[in-house]
Amino acid sequence: MVIGEMTQDVDLVVIGAGPGGYPAALRAAELGIKCVIVEAKKKVGGVCLNEGCIPSKALLHAAEVIGEAEHAESFGISFSKPKIDLDKLRSWKESVTGKLAQGIAGMCKSAGVEIFYGRAVFEDSRNIRLEDVAEGAPSRIKFKHAILATGSRPLTLRGLDLESPRLLDSTGALDIKDIPGKLLVVGGGYIGLEMGTVYAALGSEVTVVEMTDGLLPGVDRDLVRPLDNHLKQKFKSILLNTKVSGLKETKGGLEVAFEGQDAPGSMVFDKVLVAVGRRPNSDGIGLEKTGVEIDKQGFVVIDEQCRTQDKRILAVGDVSGQPMLAHRATRQGVVAAEVLAGLPSAFDNRAIPAVVFTEPEIAWCGLTETEARAKNITVGAAKFPWSASGRAQTLSLAAGQTKVVFDPESTLVLGVGIVGPRAGELIAEAVLAIEMGATLEDLVATIHPHPTLSETVMEAATAARARLERQKAQKSREEAGTRT
Ligand code: FAD
Ligand code: NAD
Repeated sequence: MVIGEMTQDVDLVVIGAGPGGYPAALRAAELGIKCVIVEAKKKVGGVCLNEGCIPSKALLHAAEVIGEAEHAESFGISFSKPKIDLDKLRSWKESVTGKLAQGIAGMCKSAGVEIFYGRAVFEDSRNIRLEDVAEGAPSRIKFKHAILATGSRPLTLRGLDLESPRLLDSTGALDIKDIPGKLLVVGGGYIGLEMGTVYAALGSEVTVVEMTDGLLPGVDRDLVRPLDNHLKQKFKSILLNTKVSGLKETKGGLEVAFEGQDAPGSMVFDKVLVAVGRRPNSDGIGLEKTGVEIDKQGFVVIDEQCRTQDKRILAVGDVSGQPMLAHRATRQGVVAAEVLAGLPSAFDNRAIPAVVFTEPEIAWCGLTETEARAKNITVGAAKFPWSASGRAQTLSLAAGQTKVVFDPESTLVLGVGIVGPRAGELIAEAVLAIEMGATLEDLVATIHPHPTLSETVMEAATAARARLERQKAQKSREEAGTRT
Protein backbone atom coordinates (compact mmCIF):
# COMPACT_ATOMS: atom_id res chain seq x y z
CA MET A 1 0.00 0.00 0.00
CA VAL A 2 1.33 3.46 -0.93
CA ILE A 3 1.93 5.68 2.08
CA GLY A 4 -0.43 8.63 1.95
CA GLU A 5 -3.15 6.55 0.34
CA MET A 6 -3.83 4.21 3.20
CA THR A 7 -6.86 4.03 5.45
CA GLN A 8 -6.33 3.63 9.16
CA ASP A 9 -8.94 2.03 11.40
CA VAL A 10 -9.20 3.58 14.89
CA ASP A 11 -11.53 3.48 17.86
CA LEU A 12 -11.30 7.23 18.41
CA VAL A 13 -10.06 10.10 16.30
CA VAL A 14 -9.69 13.50 17.95
CA ILE A 15 -9.77 16.33 15.42
CA GLY A 16 -7.71 19.29 16.62
CA ALA A 17 -4.74 19.35 19.02
CA GLY A 18 -5.78 22.42 21.03
CA PRO A 19 -6.66 22.56 24.76
CA GLY A 20 -9.90 20.72 23.98
CA GLY A 21 -8.43 18.03 21.74
CA TYR A 22 -5.17 16.86 23.30
CA PRO A 23 -6.51 16.48 26.87
CA ALA A 24 -9.40 14.44 25.39
CA ALA A 25 -6.92 12.15 23.65
CA LEU A 26 -4.70 11.81 26.74
CA ARG A 27 -7.67 10.96 28.99
CA ALA A 28 -9.01 8.50 26.42
CA ALA A 29 -5.61 6.79 26.24
CA GLU A 30 -5.47 6.63 30.05
CA LEU A 31 -8.84 4.89 30.00
CA GLY A 32 -7.64 2.32 27.49
CA ILE A 33 -9.20 3.73 24.31
CA LYS A 34 -6.93 3.47 21.27
CA CYS A 35 -6.95 6.92 19.73
CA VAL A 36 -5.16 9.24 17.32
CA ILE A 37 -5.16 13.01 16.87
CA VAL A 38 -5.46 14.76 13.50
CA GLU A 39 -4.14 18.33 13.47
CA ALA A 40 -4.30 20.68 10.47
CA LYS A 41 -1.35 22.85 11.48
CA LYS A 42 2.11 21.40 11.75
CA LYS A 43 2.11 22.03 15.50
CA VAL A 44 0.22 21.00 18.61
CA GLY A 45 -1.40 23.26 21.21
CA GLY A 46 -4.07 24.95 19.10
CA VAL A 47 -4.90 28.64 19.17
CA CYS A 48 -4.35 28.83 22.92
CA LEU A 49 -0.70 27.83 22.84
CA ASN A 50 0.36 29.18 19.45
CA GLU A 51 -1.66 32.34 18.90
CA GLY A 52 -3.76 32.94 22.01
CA CYS A 53 -3.51 32.48 25.76
CA ILE A 54 0.20 31.77 26.13
CA PRO A 55 1.89 34.25 23.76
CA SER A 56 -0.50 37.01 24.89
CA LYS A 57 0.25 36.33 28.55
CA ALA A 58 4.00 36.29 27.86
CA LEU A 59 3.70 39.75 26.28
CA LEU A 60 1.42 40.93 29.09
CA HIS A 61 4.11 39.90 31.55
CA ALA A 62 6.57 42.13 29.69
CA ALA A 63 3.99 44.96 29.85
CA GLU A 64 3.54 44.39 33.59
CA VAL A 65 7.29 44.63 34.21
CA ILE A 66 7.38 47.95 32.35
CA GLY A 67 4.34 49.21 34.31
CA GLU A 68 5.80 48.14 37.68
CA ALA A 69 9.11 49.82 36.94
CA GLU A 70 7.27 53.07 36.15
CA HIS A 71 5.10 52.75 39.26
CA ALA A 72 8.12 52.17 41.54
CA GLU A 73 8.88 55.87 41.22
CA SER A 74 5.93 56.53 43.57
CA PHE A 75 7.84 54.85 46.43
CA GLY A 76 11.22 56.25 45.63
CA ILE A 77 12.78 53.88 43.14
CA SER A 78 13.44 55.16 39.64
CA PHE A 79 14.52 53.26 36.56
CA SER A 80 15.45 54.78 33.25
CA LYS A 81 13.10 54.45 30.27
CA PRO A 82 13.07 50.83 29.10
CA LYS A 83 14.94 49.85 25.95
CA ILE A 84 12.85 47.37 24.01
CA ASP A 85 14.58 44.76 21.88
CA LEU A 86 11.63 43.46 19.86
CA ASP A 87 13.57 40.58 18.29
CA LYS A 88 14.60 39.33 21.73
CA LEU A 89 11.09 39.77 23.14
CA ARG A 90 9.65 37.85 20.18
CA SER A 91 12.15 35.03 20.45
CA TRP A 92 11.58 34.72 24.22
CA LYS A 93 7.82 34.50 23.59
CA GLU A 94 8.44 31.86 20.91
CA SER A 95 10.73 29.89 23.23
CA VAL A 96 7.93 29.80 25.80
CA THR A 97 5.40 28.39 23.31
CA GLY A 98 8.03 26.07 21.78
CA LYS A 99 8.87 24.46 25.14
CA LEU A 100 5.21 23.92 25.95
CA ALA A 101 4.50 22.44 22.49
CA GLN A 102 7.37 19.98 22.97
CA GLY A 103 5.86 19.02 26.32
CA ILE A 104 2.46 18.28 24.75
CA ALA A 105 3.98 16.26 21.91
CA GLY A 106 6.04 14.34 24.48
CA MET A 107 2.99 13.57 26.64
CA CYS A 108 1.08 12.29 23.59
CA LYS A 109 4.01 10.11 22.59
CA SER A 110 4.38 8.53 26.02
CA ALA A 111 0.61 7.95 26.19
CA GLY A 112 0.76 6.14 22.82
CA VAL A 113 -1.38 8.79 21.11
CA GLU A 114 -0.21 9.22 17.52
CA ILE A 115 -0.57 12.66 15.94
CA PHE A 116 -1.22 12.87 12.20
CA TYR A 117 -0.69 16.27 10.62
CA GLY A 118 -3.35 17.01 8.01
CA ARG A 119 -6.76 18.63 7.64
CA ALA A 120 -9.71 16.38 8.49
CA VAL A 121 -12.87 16.48 6.38
CA PHE A 122 -15.83 14.20 7.15
CA GLU A 123 -16.98 11.89 4.35
CA ASP A 124 -19.74 10.45 6.53
CA SER A 125 -20.31 9.46 10.17
CA ARG A 126 -17.57 6.80 10.07
CA ASN A 127 -14.83 8.23 7.86
CA ILE A 128 -12.66 11.30 7.54
CA ARG A 129 -10.43 12.24 4.65
CA LEU A 130 -7.13 13.93 5.43
CA GLU A 131 -6.06 16.84 3.22
CA ASP A 132 -2.55 18.35 2.99
CA VAL A 133 -1.18 15.39 4.91
CA ALA A 134 2.34 15.25 6.19
CA GLU A 135 4.47 12.33 5.09
CA GLY A 136 3.59 9.10 6.86
CA ALA A 137 0.01 10.07 7.66
CA PRO A 138 -2.90 8.07 6.27
CA SER A 139 -5.19 9.73 3.72
CA ARG A 140 -8.34 8.36 5.33
CA ILE A 141 -9.33 7.37 8.86
CA LYS A 142 -12.20 5.04 9.65
CA PHE A 143 -13.37 5.64 13.21
CA LYS A 144 -15.83 4.24 15.73
CA HIS A 145 -16.02 7.63 17.45
CA ALA A 146 -14.74 11.12 16.75
CA ILE A 147 -14.25 14.09 19.08
CA LEU A 148 -14.44 17.33 17.17
CA ALA A 149 -12.18 20.01 18.69
CA THR A 150 -11.54 22.29 15.73
CA GLY A 151 -11.76 25.56 17.70
CA SER A 152 -12.49 28.98 16.27
CA ARG A 153 -11.03 31.81 14.19
CA PRO A 154 -11.26 35.61 14.32
CA LEU A 155 -14.32 37.43 12.98
CA THR A 156 -13.62 40.16 10.46
CA LEU A 157 -15.35 43.53 10.13
CA ARG A 158 -18.36 42.89 7.96
CA GLY A 159 -18.19 44.82 4.68
CA LEU A 160 -14.76 46.24 5.54
CA ASP A 161 -12.46 43.58 4.15
CA LEU A 162 -9.17 45.07 3.11
CA GLU A 163 -5.92 43.36 2.17
CA SER A 164 -3.32 45.36 4.05
CA PRO A 165 -0.32 44.54 6.23
CA ARG A 166 -1.56 47.36 8.47
CA LEU A 167 -4.79 45.50 9.25
CA LEU A 168 -4.18 42.92 11.98
CA ASP A 169 -6.11 40.18 13.72
CA SER A 170 -4.97 38.84 17.10
CA THR A 171 -2.45 36.48 15.46
CA GLY A 172 -0.84 39.35 13.54
CA ALA A 173 -0.80 41.53 16.66
CA LEU A 174 0.95 38.77 18.65
CA ASP A 175 3.71 38.66 16.04
CA ILE A 176 4.80 42.15 17.19
CA LYS A 177 6.59 42.87 13.93
CA ASP A 178 6.97 46.49 15.04
CA ILE A 179 5.59 48.98 17.54
CA PRO A 180 3.12 51.13 15.63
CA GLY A 181 3.11 54.82 16.55
CA LYS A 182 -0.67 54.96 16.41
CA LEU A 183 -2.71 51.80 16.93
CA LEU A 184 -6.48 51.54 16.62
CA VAL A 185 -8.06 48.58 18.42
CA VAL A 186 -11.54 47.73 17.19
CA GLY A 187 -13.43 45.94 20.00
CA GLY A 188 -13.18 46.61 23.73
CA GLY A 189 -13.40 42.94 24.74
CA TYR A 190 -10.81 40.46 26.00
CA ILE A 191 -8.39 40.62 23.08
CA GLY A 192 -8.74 44.36 22.42
CA LEU A 193 -7.94 45.27 26.02
CA GLU A 194 -5.19 42.69 26.57
CA MET A 195 -3.37 43.50 23.31
CA GLY A 196 -4.06 47.23 23.75
CA THR A 197 -2.35 46.96 27.16
CA VAL A 198 0.69 45.27 25.59
CA TYR A 199 1.10 47.82 22.80
CA ALA A 200 0.50 50.82 25.11
CA ALA A 201 3.27 49.52 27.41
CA LEU A 202 5.62 49.07 24.45
CA GLY A 203 5.02 52.70 23.45
CA SER A 204 2.11 52.80 20.97
CA GLU A 205 -0.54 55.48 21.21
CA VAL A 206 -3.63 53.26 21.54
CA THR A 207 -7.21 54.18 20.65
CA VAL A 208 -10.01 51.70 21.36
CA VAL A 209 -13.33 51.79 19.55
CA GLU A 210 -16.18 49.79 21.14
CA MET A 211 -19.69 49.61 19.74
CA THR A 212 -21.51 49.20 23.09
CA ASP A 213 -21.68 51.76 25.91
CA GLY A 214 -18.86 50.26 27.96
CA LEU A 215 -15.72 48.11 27.86
CA LEU A 216 -16.14 44.37 28.45
CA PRO A 217 -19.90 44.25 27.91
CA GLY A 218 -21.65 41.82 30.22
CA VAL A 219 -19.09 42.11 33.04
CA ASP A 220 -20.30 43.78 36.32
CA ARG A 221 -19.65 47.52 36.00
CA ASP A 222 -18.12 47.87 39.47
CA LEU A 223 -15.42 45.41 38.42
CA VAL A 224 -14.77 47.18 35.12
CA ARG A 225 -14.54 50.69 36.66
CA PRO A 226 -10.98 50.44 38.11
CA LEU A 227 -9.74 49.03 34.79
CA ASP A 228 -11.57 51.75 32.91
CA ASN A 229 -9.88 54.41 35.05
CA HIS A 230 -6.47 52.86 34.50
CA LEU A 231 -6.93 52.49 30.74
CA LYS A 232 -8.06 56.11 30.43
CA GLN A 233 -4.56 57.05 31.60
CA LYS A 234 -2.74 54.48 29.47
CA PHE A 235 -4.68 54.77 26.21
CA LYS A 236 -4.96 57.84 24.01
CA SER A 237 -8.75 57.49 23.89
CA ILE A 238 -11.64 55.08 24.30
CA LEU A 239 -14.51 55.67 21.90
CA LEU A 240 -17.74 54.07 23.14
CA ASN A 241 -21.01 53.61 21.22
CA THR A 242 -18.88 53.88 18.10
CA LYS A 243 -18.23 51.63 15.11
CA VAL A 244 -15.80 51.70 12.24
CA SER A 245 -17.67 52.60 9.05
CA GLY A 246 -14.81 52.84 6.56
CA LEU A 247 -11.20 51.75 6.07
CA LYS A 248 -8.93 53.15 3.39
CA GLU A 249 -5.24 52.55 2.72
CA THR A 250 -3.38 55.85 2.34
CA LYS A 251 0.30 56.67 2.00
CA GLY A 252 0.65 57.49 5.68
CA GLY A 253 -1.45 54.64 7.10
CA LEU A 254 -5.00 53.36 7.33
CA GLU A 255 -7.63 56.07 7.23
CA VAL A 256 -10.53 55.05 9.44
CA ALA A 257 -14.04 56.52 9.39
CA PHE A 258 -16.29 56.14 12.43
CA GLU A 259 -20.03 56.14 13.02
CA GLY A 260 -22.01 56.67 16.21
CA GLN A 261 -23.52 59.50 18.23
CA ASP A 262 -20.23 61.02 19.40
CA ALA A 263 -18.08 59.55 16.64
CA PRO A 264 -15.00 61.63 15.74
CA GLY A 265 -14.03 62.48 12.17
CA SER A 266 -11.74 60.20 10.15
CA MET A 267 -8.33 59.45 11.63
CA VAL A 268 -5.18 57.83 10.27
CA PHE A 269 -3.51 54.94 12.12
CA ASP A 270 -0.29 53.03 11.50
CA LYS A 271 -1.98 49.74 12.36
CA VAL A 272 -5.54 48.61 13.08
CA LEU A 273 -6.21 45.54 15.21
CA VAL A 274 -9.64 44.00 14.73
CA ALA A 275 -10.82 42.08 17.81
CA VAL A 276 -14.59 41.83 17.49
CA GLY A 277 -15.08 38.19 18.48
CA ARG A 278 -14.46 34.75 17.02
CA ARG A 279 -16.44 32.23 14.98
CA PRO A 280 -16.45 28.44 15.29
CA ASN A 281 -14.54 26.23 12.81
CA SER A 282 -17.55 24.12 11.91
CA ASP A 283 -17.74 25.01 8.20
CA GLY A 284 -15.88 23.39 5.29
CA ILE A 285 -15.23 20.16 7.19
CA GLY A 286 -18.03 18.04 5.77
CA LEU A 287 -20.28 18.09 8.84
CA GLU A 288 -23.29 18.23 6.51
CA LYS A 289 -22.46 14.61 5.60
CA THR A 290 -22.92 13.56 9.24
CA GLY A 291 -25.84 13.87 11.65
CA VAL A 292 -24.17 16.76 13.53
CA GLU A 293 -26.45 19.76 14.10
CA ILE A 294 -25.10 23.30 13.84
CA ASP A 295 -26.90 26.33 15.31
CA LYS A 296 -27.45 29.72 13.66
CA GLN A 297 -24.11 31.07 14.89
CA GLY A 298 -22.26 28.04 13.53
CA PHE A 299 -21.70 26.30 16.90
CA VAL A 300 -22.02 22.52 17.01
CA VAL A 301 -24.97 21.62 19.24
CA ILE A 302 -24.01 19.31 22.12
CA ASP A 303 -25.57 17.96 25.31
CA GLU A 304 -24.11 17.81 28.83
CA GLN A 305 -22.02 14.80 27.82
CA CYS A 306 -20.60 16.66 24.82
CA ARG A 307 -22.52 14.38 22.44
CA THR A 308 -23.75 15.82 19.14
CA GLN A 309 -26.89 14.67 17.32
CA ASP A 310 -24.69 12.11 15.55
CA LYS A 311 -24.16 9.25 17.99
CA ARG A 312 -20.59 8.63 16.81
CA ILE A 313 -19.43 12.24 17.09
CA LEU A 314 -18.80 14.38 20.18
CA ALA A 315 -17.63 18.00 20.21
CA VAL A 316 -15.70 20.11 22.71
CA GLY A 317 -14.19 23.57 23.04
CA ASP A 318 -14.75 26.72 21.00
CA VAL A 319 -16.52 24.86 18.17
CA SER A 320 -19.24 23.84 20.64
CA GLY A 321 -20.26 27.25 22.02
CA GLN A 322 -19.56 29.96 24.58
CA PRO A 323 -17.64 30.80 26.62
CA MET A 324 -14.73 30.31 24.24
CA LEU A 325 -12.12 29.68 26.92
CA ALA A 326 -9.29 27.18 27.06
CA HIS A 327 -10.16 25.75 30.49
CA ARG A 328 -13.75 25.07 29.41
CA ALA A 329 -12.40 23.25 26.34
CA THR A 330 -10.08 21.15 28.50
CA ARG A 331 -12.77 20.12 30.98
CA GLN A 332 -15.09 19.23 28.11
CA GLY A 333 -12.33 17.19 26.44
CA VAL A 334 -11.89 15.14 29.59
CA VAL A 335 -15.67 14.68 29.94
CA ALA A 336 -16.00 13.54 26.30
CA ALA A 337 -13.27 10.91 26.74
CA GLU A 338 -14.81 9.66 29.98
CA VAL A 339 -18.26 9.44 28.38
CA LEU A 340 -16.80 7.29 25.58
CA ALA A 341 -15.18 5.06 28.20
CA GLY A 342 -18.61 4.54 29.76
CA LEU A 343 -17.97 6.63 32.89
CA PRO A 344 -20.85 8.69 34.36
CA SER A 345 -19.21 11.99 33.40
CA ALA A 346 -20.91 15.26 32.44
CA PHE A 347 -19.97 18.87 31.85
CA ASP A 348 -22.18 20.04 34.70
CA ASN A 349 -19.75 22.50 36.27
CA ARG A 350 -21.44 25.24 38.28
CA ALA A 351 -18.76 27.82 37.71
CA ILE A 352 -16.54 28.51 34.70
CA PRO A 353 -14.02 31.16 35.70
CA ALA A 354 -13.20 34.03 33.34
CA VAL A 355 -10.11 36.22 33.59
CA VAL A 356 -9.21 39.33 31.63
CA PHE A 357 -5.44 39.64 32.03
CA THR A 358 -5.26 43.41 31.90
CA GLU A 359 -3.73 45.77 34.47
CA PRO A 360 -5.57 45.39 36.83
CA GLU A 361 -6.90 41.93 36.06
CA ILE A 362 -10.62 41.18 36.26
CA ALA A 363 -11.80 37.70 37.22
CA TRP A 364 -15.21 36.30 37.98
CA CYS A 365 -17.03 33.01 38.35
CA GLY A 366 -20.51 31.71 39.05
CA LEU A 367 -23.42 34.14 39.08
CA THR A 368 -22.64 37.80 38.41
CA GLU A 369 -24.84 40.65 39.65
CA THR A 370 -25.56 41.59 36.01
CA GLU A 371 -26.80 38.07 35.26
CA ALA A 372 -28.82 37.92 38.49
CA ARG A 373 -30.58 41.18 37.56
CA ALA A 374 -31.28 39.96 34.01
CA LYS A 375 -32.72 36.68 35.32
CA ASN A 376 -34.62 38.31 38.23
CA ILE A 377 -32.76 36.27 40.84
CA THR A 378 -32.66 37.84 44.31
CA VAL A 379 -29.09 37.89 45.56
CA GLY A 380 -27.02 39.69 48.16
CA ALA A 381 -23.62 41.15 47.37
CA ALA A 382 -20.82 42.43 49.58
CA LYS A 383 -17.44 43.90 48.70
CA PHE A 384 -14.08 44.19 50.34
CA PRO A 385 -11.99 47.10 49.05
CA TRP A 386 -8.30 46.35 48.64
CA SER A 387 -7.50 49.72 50.24
CA ALA A 388 -8.16 47.85 53.51
CA SER A 389 -5.92 44.91 52.62
CA GLY A 390 -2.50 44.89 54.27
CA ARG A 391 -0.98 42.89 51.42
CA ALA A 392 -2.41 45.19 48.75
CA GLN A 393 -0.87 48.17 50.56
CA THR A 394 2.57 46.54 50.84
CA LEU A 395 2.40 45.86 47.12
CA SER A 396 1.41 49.48 46.51
CA LEU A 397 -1.71 48.43 44.66
CA ALA A 398 -3.90 51.44 44.08
CA ALA A 399 -7.24 49.91 43.23
CA GLY A 400 -8.89 46.56 43.69
CA GLN A 401 -11.89 44.91 45.23
CA THR A 402 -13.30 41.48 45.93
CA LYS A 403 -17.03 40.89 45.76
CA VAL A 404 -19.08 37.92 46.93
CA VAL A 405 -22.55 37.28 45.48
CA PHE A 406 -24.68 35.04 47.71
CA ASP A 407 -28.13 33.63 48.30
CA PRO A 408 -29.55 35.66 51.24
CA GLU A 409 -31.70 32.72 52.39
CA SER A 410 -29.26 29.79 52.32
CA THR A 411 -26.09 31.98 52.41
CA LEU A 412 -24.64 29.78 49.63
CA VAL A 413 -21.85 31.47 47.69
CA LEU A 414 -23.22 31.94 44.15
CA GLY A 415 -20.55 34.06 42.52
CA VAL A 416 -17.32 35.96 43.12
CA GLY A 417 -15.86 38.88 41.19
CA ILE A 418 -12.38 40.29 41.71
CA VAL A 419 -10.58 43.25 40.18
CA GLY A 420 -6.93 43.81 40.97
CA PRO A 421 -3.50 42.44 40.10
CA ARG A 422 -3.42 38.62 40.28
CA ALA A 423 -7.25 38.41 40.36
CA GLY A 424 -6.86 35.48 37.95
CA GLU A 425 -4.89 33.50 40.55
CA LEU A 426 -7.29 34.40 43.37
CA ILE A 427 -10.48 33.31 41.60
CA ALA A 428 -9.63 29.58 41.80
CA GLU A 429 -10.58 29.45 45.50
CA ALA A 430 -13.98 30.92 44.64
CA VAL A 431 -14.53 28.35 41.86
CA LEU A 432 -13.81 25.54 44.31
CA ALA A 433 -16.11 27.14 46.92
CA ILE A 434 -18.99 27.25 44.44
CA GLU A 435 -18.37 23.73 43.14
CA MET A 436 -18.30 22.41 46.73
CA GLY A 437 -21.50 24.28 47.68
CA ALA A 438 -19.73 26.49 50.25
CA THR A 439 -21.66 28.98 52.38
CA LEU A 440 -20.42 32.40 53.50
CA GLU A 441 -19.54 30.85 56.87
CA ASP A 442 -17.30 28.28 55.14
CA LEU A 443 -15.25 31.10 53.59
CA VAL A 444 -15.23 33.12 56.81
CA ALA A 445 -14.12 30.15 58.93
CA THR A 446 -11.35 29.07 56.54
CA ILE A 447 -8.00 30.40 57.72
CA HIS A 448 -6.31 32.39 54.96
CA PRO A 449 -2.58 33.17 55.19
CA HIS A 450 -1.69 36.71 56.28
CA PRO A 451 -0.78 39.03 54.69
CA THR A 452 -2.02 37.84 51.29
CA LEU A 453 -4.51 39.04 48.73
CA SER A 454 -6.38 35.75 49.26
CA GLU A 455 -7.64 37.19 52.55
CA THR A 456 -9.85 39.55 50.56
CA VAL A 457 -12.10 36.60 49.60
CA MET A 458 -12.57 35.77 53.29
CA GLU A 459 -13.06 39.47 54.12
CA ALA A 460 -15.74 39.91 51.44
CA ALA A 461 -17.57 36.89 52.88
CA THR A 462 -17.19 38.38 56.37
CA ALA A 463 -18.70 41.64 55.14
CA ALA A 464 -21.58 39.68 53.59
CA ARG A 465 -22.20 37.78 56.81
CA ALA A 466 -22.13 41.02 58.83
CA ARG A 467 -24.71 42.53 56.47
CA LEU A 468 -27.01 39.52 56.87
CA GLU A 469 -26.61 39.63 60.66
CA ARG A 470 -27.42 43.35 60.77
CA GLN A 471 -30.53 42.71 58.67
CA LYS A 472 -31.56 39.86 60.97
CA ALA A 473 -31.05 42.01 64.08
CA GLN A 474 -33.04 44.87 62.53
CA LYS A 475 -35.88 42.48 61.65
CA SER A 476 -35.98 41.10 65.23
CA ARG A 477 -36.06 44.66 66.62
CA GLU A 478 -38.92 45.54 64.28
CA GLU A 479 -40.83 42.39 65.25
CA ALA A 480 -40.24 43.06 68.96
CA GLY A 481 -41.47 46.64 68.43
CA THR A 482 -44.66 45.37 66.77
CA ARG A 483 -45.34 43.01 69.71
CA THR A 484 -45.04 45.72 72.42
P1 FAD B 1 -8.25 25.64 19.35
O1 FAD B 1 -7.28 26.00 20.39
O2 FAD B 1 -8.68 26.66 18.37
O3 FAD B 1 -7.64 24.39 18.59
C1 FAD B 1 -8.27 23.84 17.49
C2 FAD B 1 -7.24 23.07 16.70
O4 FAD B 1 -7.92 22.37 15.67
C3 FAD B 1 -6.23 23.98 15.98
O5 FAD B 1 -4.93 23.54 16.26
C4 FAD B 1 -6.58 23.84 14.51
O6 FAD B 1 -5.43 23.93 13.67
C5 FAD B 1 -7.18 22.46 14.48
N1 FAD B 1 -8.12 22.24 13.36
C6 FAD B 1 -9.10 23.07 12.93
N2 FAD B 1 -9.75 22.51 11.90
C7 FAD B 1 -9.18 21.30 11.68
C8 FAD B 1 -9.42 20.24 10.76
N3 FAD B 1 -10.39 20.31 9.85
N4 FAD B 1 -8.62 19.15 10.81
C9 FAD B 1 -7.63 19.05 11.73
N5 FAD B 1 -7.37 20.02 12.63
C10 FAD B 1 -8.13 21.12 12.61
N6 FAD B 1 -8.64 31.45 26.66
C11 FAD B 1 -8.38 31.36 27.97
O7 FAD B 1 -8.99 30.53 28.66
N7 FAD B 1 -7.44 32.16 28.56
C12 FAD B 1 -6.75 33.08 27.86
O8 FAD B 1 -5.91 33.77 28.43
C13 FAD B 1 -7.01 33.20 26.48
N8 FAD B 1 -6.33 34.11 25.75
C14 FAD B 1 -6.57 34.18 24.40
C15 FAD B 1 -5.88 35.13 23.67
C16 FAD B 1 -6.10 35.24 22.31
C17 FAD B 1 -5.34 36.27 21.51
C18 FAD B 1 -7.02 34.36 21.67
C19 FAD B 1 -7.25 34.44 20.19
C20 FAD B 1 -7.73 33.43 22.40
C21 FAD B 1 -7.52 33.33 23.77
N9 FAD B 1 -8.21 32.42 24.56
C22 FAD B 1 -7.97 32.35 25.90
C23 FAD B 1 -9.20 31.50 23.98
C24 FAD B 1 -8.58 30.11 23.77
O9 FAD B 1 -7.46 30.23 22.93
C25 FAD B 1 -9.60 29.17 23.16
O10 FAD B 1 -10.77 29.14 23.95
C26 FAD B 1 -9.03 27.76 23.07
O11 FAD B 1 -7.86 27.74 22.29
C27 FAD B 1 -10.06 26.81 22.47
O12 FAD B 1 -9.53 25.53 22.43
P2 FAD B 1 -10.03 24.46 21.35
O13 FAD B 1 -9.26 23.22 21.63
O14 FAD B 1 -11.50 24.42 21.34
O15 FAD B 1 -9.61 25.07 19.94
P1 NAD C 1 -15.00 39.66 22.72
O1 NAD C 1 -16.33 39.09 22.44
O2 NAD C 1 -14.39 39.46 24.04
O3 NAD C 1 -15.01 41.23 22.46
C1 NAD C 1 -15.42 41.78 21.25
C2 NAD C 1 -15.82 43.20 21.51
O4 NAD C 1 -15.96 43.84 20.27
C3 NAD C 1 -17.14 43.35 22.25
O5 NAD C 1 -16.98 44.26 23.30
C4 NAD C 1 -18.09 43.87 21.17
O6 NAD C 1 -19.11 44.68 21.68
C5 NAD C 1 -17.13 44.63 20.29
N1 NAD C 1 -17.54 44.77 18.89
C6 NAD C 1 -18.11 43.86 18.08
N2 NAD C 1 -18.27 44.35 16.84
C7 NAD C 1 -17.78 45.61 16.85
C8 NAD C 1 -17.64 46.64 15.88
N3 NAD C 1 -18.03 46.44 14.64
N4 NAD C 1 -17.10 47.82 16.25
C9 NAD C 1 -16.68 48.02 17.53
N5 NAD C 1 -16.78 47.09 18.49
C10 NAD C 1 -17.32 45.89 18.16
O7 NAD C 1 -14.07 39.09 21.54
P2 NAD C 1 -12.49 39.11 21.36
O8 NAD C 1 -11.88 40.16 22.20
O9 NAD C 1 -12.27 39.11 19.90
O10 NAD C 1 -12.08 37.70 21.92
C11 NAD C 1 -12.67 36.52 21.38
C12 NAD C 1 -12.83 35.48 22.43
O11 NAD C 1 -11.56 34.91 22.74
C13 NAD C 1 -13.33 36.03 23.77
O12 NAD C 1 -14.73 36.14 23.79
C14 NAD C 1 -12.84 34.99 24.71
O13 NAD C 1 -13.76 33.91 24.72
C15 NAD C 1 -11.53 34.53 24.11
N6 NAD C 1 -10.38 35.23 24.76
C16 NAD C 1 -10.20 35.01 26.10
C17 NAD C 1 -9.16 35.62 26.75
C18 NAD C 1 -8.96 35.36 28.22
O14 NAD C 1 -9.52 34.39 28.71
N7 NAD C 1 -8.19 36.17 28.93
C19 NAD C 1 -8.30 36.49 26.07
C20 NAD C 1 -8.53 36.70 24.72
C21 NAD C 1 -9.57 36.05 24.08
